[in-house]
Amino acid sequence: MKIKLLRYTADAELLCGTAALTSTKTGSPSEILEKMNMETAKRIIKHVTGYGHVSVIEHASFTFSIEGVSRAMTHQLVRHRIASFTQQSQRYVTYDTLEKYVTPPSITNNAEAKKIFGETLEKISETYQKLLKLGIKKEDARFILPNAAKTNIIVTMNARELRHFFNLRCCTRSQWEIREVAIEMLKQAKKTAPALFENAGPSCVELGYCPEGKIKPPECNVEEIKKRFRSM
Ligand SMILES: Cc1cc2nc3c(=O)[nH]c(=O)nc-3n(C[C@H](O)[C@H](O)[C@H](O)COP(=O)(O)OP(=O)(O)OC[C@H]3O[C@@H](n4cnc5c(N)ncnc54)[C@H](O)[C@@H]3O)c2cc1C
Repeated sequence: MKIKLLRYTADAELLCGTAALTSTKTGSPSEILEKMNMETAKRIIKHVTGYGHVSVIEHASFTFSIEGVSRAMTHQLVRHRIASFTQQSQRYVTYDTLEKYVTPPSITNNAEAKKIFGETLEKISETYQKLLKLGIKKEDARFILPNAAKTNIIVTMNARELRHFFNLRCCTRSQWEIREVAIEMLKQAKKTAPALFENAGPSCVELGYCPEGKIKPPECNVEEIKKRFRSM
């Protein structure tokens, strides 16, 4: 997979700092922005979001290209409703080679599983091609394609939604592929706007405990996870 932060709001932290001060200052947003500096922005964002007024960070948007992932992954991704998506269409793009599929590591690492997985995908590819040759439209031939089918998607989220997405999808309870995507998105967003993504990561990084309760995976060590994500 390839994840690339394509575009983001210019001066995202200065802008969100301006939004945070707009509610309590007499000056206009444009006057506040003119005087805003990074140190004040970071301090005010931390202060205001710290007591729950997280809407101020909705003014910063981040657009990612997510490439070569499975349809199983994007089906989960698009459940996040406070985001904008555009996905490669199986009505227009032909799936013609085996490289168009994602193989989970658990299958790659198991010789017998890898063999039957590969054979099945080969059969699916052949049938798909035969359907096209029979004059079946791509939009109908695609009914044979599996969750493993590779796809590309572009997604835009504001910083508040991104933080929520990271809470859910950087978590060990999340499925491996969307977790890999979320962690890479977090790394790139945090590099760009560290003040907006301080303490971002699975919920336990912010809360200090696991909200999953009894279903918390036994391998999870909250202190280690906090350390890992805070140093990202
Ligand atoms: C580990 C894990 C397992 C999952 N398993 C399943 C499963 O088995 N089956 C399944 O169907 N889904 C499953 N999901 C998906 C999950 O139920 C959510 O649909 C998905 O995580 C999106 O979360 P969200 O609704 O909080 O986020 P978003 O859609 O991004 O929304 C962000 C926030 O906006 C608010 N919001 C958005 N829309 C509304 C609304 N209509 N009304 C009120 N408030 C709203 C809520 O506060 C919400 O948290 C799973 C998710 C995870 C992380």
